[in-house]
Amino acid sequence: MDEIDCAVIGAGVVGLAVARALALAGREVLLLESEGAIGTGTSSRNSEVIHAGIYYPQGSLKAKLCVEGKQLLYAYAAERGVPHRRCGKLIVATSPEQAAQLEVIRTKAAANGVDDLELLTAEQAVAMEPQLQCMAALHSPSTGIVDSHALMLSLLGDLENAGGMLALKSPITRAECGGNGIVLIAEDGTALRCRSVVNAAGLGAPALARGFEGLPSAAVPTEHFAKGNYFTLSGRAPFSRLVYPVPEPGGLGVHLTIDLGDQAKFGPDVQWVESADDLIVDPARGDGFYAEVRKYWPALPDGALIPGYAGMRPKISGPGEPAADFMIDGPASHGVPGLVNLFGIESPGLTSSLAIARHVSDLLAHA
Ligand SMILES: Cc1cc2nc3c(=O)[nH]c(=O)nc-3n(C[C@H](O)[C@H](O)[C@H](O)COP(=O)(O)OP(=O)(O)OC[C@H]3O[C@@H](n4cnc5c(N)ncnc54)[C@H](O)[C@@H]3O)c2cc1C
Repeated sequence: MDEIDCAVIGAGVVGLAVARALALAGREVLLLESEGAIGTGTSSRNSEVIHAGIYYPQGSLKAKLCVEGKQLLYAYAAERGVPHRRCGKLIVATSPEQAAQLEVIRTKAAANGVDDLELLTAEQAVAMEPQLQCMAALHSPSTGIVDSHALMLSLLGDLENAGGMLALKSPITRAECGGNGIVLIAEDGTALRCRSVVNAAGLGAPALARGFEGLPSAAVPTEHFAKGNYFTLSGRAPFSRLVYPVPEPGGLGVHLTIDLGDQAKFGPDVQWVESADDLIVDPARGDGFYAEVRKYWPALPDGALIPGYAGMRPKISGPGEPAADFMIDGPASHGVPGLVNLFGIESPGLTSSLAIARHVSDLLAHA
């Protein structure tokens, strides 16, 4: 049987970042990906926003790894020439109740270490974005956007330069976790003995972990799928910053993001679905976007929203339940030496990827 020091399952942005970190730490690493290319899962179907870390509960992994990951990502992107822009974001209040929420959001963000939010009057906000309508706003200068594909290619380059290997079209179906390492079994029956395994299979991570013989079933959460639909704007982007309404219970509201090509899009909304493969955008969902967007951008023309694409959130909490934190479980949590499972790596997973990699590397170093 072939043997390797470390196997990372899943070449999305998180698996790539983890594999890179392990290889840079001097470990022998094989990155296993079921598809024929890297980054074809959730990592290619998101908003590409570098989040500041504003809304997550204080002390959560999401808060900690987002704030740390944002700093690591800006530094990495600048050093490696990965296209990105620190464009900033406005959180806009369009009612007196929402205006009262802005100070609450600012306080919560400060507790997470995000202490650069500025409260703006309507006049100050409109001076920054003349097409905006609002009663007040919060400016987040450290929010930005990044080219996620360029980032993933750069991470792969680092992995390979450090001696790591990528194996495409290599779906892993199950594993045997015993006393002498972890044996991974691929779809074609190939077996590989590993000292360490990182399950970074995204939407498929819980199902895969259920096939790990020797891992307690209580260590694997139930997966839920929440689709996020985007509608792109035909014509020029009206804003140069990202624009988000004050969040309502259950979601961030219909917000505007721009990409590095200045294409504006609205979304993602939240649509709970049964299958992770359900990625077709229903044009009718766009109807509800118009009224929401016109609360802060009254000039949105009729018929300007075009069905775009959808991404799937790898949820581990169901509809109506409080949002779960990232679940990054090492040997101390589940008892299997050398194994780290990553579950529920939804937003801000892209922003956090380099910090998640550091965290996973630490969990394995102390295993
Ligand atoms: C709509 C939406 C918007 C988002 N916006 C943002 C944002 O603006 N900013 C941000 O920070 N985050 C955002 N996120 C979150 C971010 O996209 C994810 O956290 C991140 O991409 C997760 O990366 P990953 O590597 O864990 O998963 P994935 O990218 O899904 O990668 C998992 C990989 O594992 C492979 N795989 C699965 N099963 C197996 C197997 N059995 N064997 C081998 N390989 C396997 C898959 O093919 C896939 O390539 C968003 C998410 C969504 C859904």
